Amino acid sequence: MSAPRILGWPQDQPLRQPVDRRVLPAAPLVDAACSYARRRQQPLYTLMSLSLLRAFEQAERHGQLTVLIGERICDEVLGWHPRMVWGELYDQVVCDLTPHHGSAPAGTTTAYRAGCRCLDCREANAATVARTARRIRVRKGGERSA
Ligand SMILES: [Zn+2]
Repeated sequence: MSAPRILGWPQDQPLRQPVDRRVLPAAPLVDAACSYARRRQQPLYTLMSLSLLRAFEQAERHGQLTVLIGERICDEVLGWHPRMVWGELYDQVVCDLTPHHGSAPAGTTTAYRAGCRCLDCREANAATVARTARRIRVRKGGERSA
């Protein structure tokens, strides 16, 4: 199956994973933000907006965050380039040329769609897997004895 196309997108270039929705590990940013807050002698919640703080706490819990949130915290809170937090990994993630394949086909059990590591593919796939599991449960529950 071929990758989805966007109108006007060059036909010879496969659609790439959306950069904003790619994931970075949270630990380097958590370390950087916490030591920044310690140096400033201010609690973290005074250094960022409520929405950013929620995203930060969620990242801490899940161990990862999107490039979009990572860049916003670097830019708006730390005043750093993301490369100062993640080093080469940031460049690798942002420049990753893995093609983006869109949503997963029904019944796919992998969390990733054809190797695409972006959150769009992963969430679409998780939703498909959940839907498929529900359908199977409904079918089994609907069986009646004659
Ligand atoms: Zn994708």
